[in-house]
Amino acid sequence: MGKKEFVVFGLGRFGKSVALTLADSGCEVLVVDDNEEKIHDIAEYVTYAVKADVTDAETLSTLGLRNFDGAIIAIGENLEASVLVTILVKELGIPYVLAKVQTDTQAKVLKKVGADMVVFPEKETGIRIANKLVHGNFFDAIELSTTFSMMELDALPEWYGKTLSELDLRAKYDINVIGVKNRGKFNFNPTAEEIIDRDDILVVIGRNETLSQLQNH
Ligand code: ATP
Ligand code: ATP
Ligand code: CA
Repeated sequence: MGKKEFVVFGLGRFGKSVALTLADSGCEVLVVDDNEEKIHDIAEYVTYAVKADVTDAETLSTLGLRNFDGAIIAIGENLEASVLVTILVKELGIPYVLAKVQTDTQAKVLKKVGADMVVFPEKETGIRIANKLVHGNFFDAIELSTTFSMMELDALPEWYGKTLSELDLRAKYDINVIGVKNRGKFNFNPTAEEIIDRDDILVVIGRNETLSQLQNH
């Protein structure tokens, strides 16, 4: 398998940071923006930087986008331009198209014309930060949604020596244990007979409130 290839349209703060991170991670990255200076500034860090209007179908057709793995559309408020470019890249057959949006309307329209995923970076970051402020600092938490997370949880002392079945965590806390770590060993998908020992770290999925309560126990 070769390197993954991505095209990023629009070099605002979001598009630029996506493009640079992809390039840093070893991907082939093509960027398109109609701002000369932005193209000049990023050129040495990406595979290919093209100054063009993203709605210019003719220019886009010369870029060989057909075999790209993904397109990121980050051209700001201009709904018409983002709709057009989304349609163009879907028509070219790019399998994964992610668009940065600012409003629910923009999200709805872009999904309708084929965006596989829309993100609201400011809104999503706001939610994540507020959750952190309310629930404390999740240790290694992965937010699955605004309500659920996956995280590591130190076994409570009263759990030591008991099996998952005895603890009945699913019924009591509505959490699922997907793995148990102890001294570098990881037991994935424990059975109901798994005994929780001192110093075990449980990898669990559950509600944010429950997890933060258990963590601050
Ligand atoms: P952020 O909030 O992430 O900084 P944004 O979504 O607010 O970004 P802008 O900061 O306006 O958007 O950046 C959008 C980028 O897209 C700019 O660099 C602009 O030059 C570029 N752009 C906008 N419209 C087009 C277009 N039709 N063709 C090519 N580039 C475009
Ligand atoms: P369930 O009641 O969820 O259908 P079950 O009847 O299949 O469970 P077991 O799989 O033997 O029975 O589990 C018995 C109980 O042990 C479960 O009800 C649950 O409370 C707890 N348990 C088992 N595995 C886990 C796990 N991975 N995470 C959380 N709790 C578990
Ligand atoms: Ca902005």
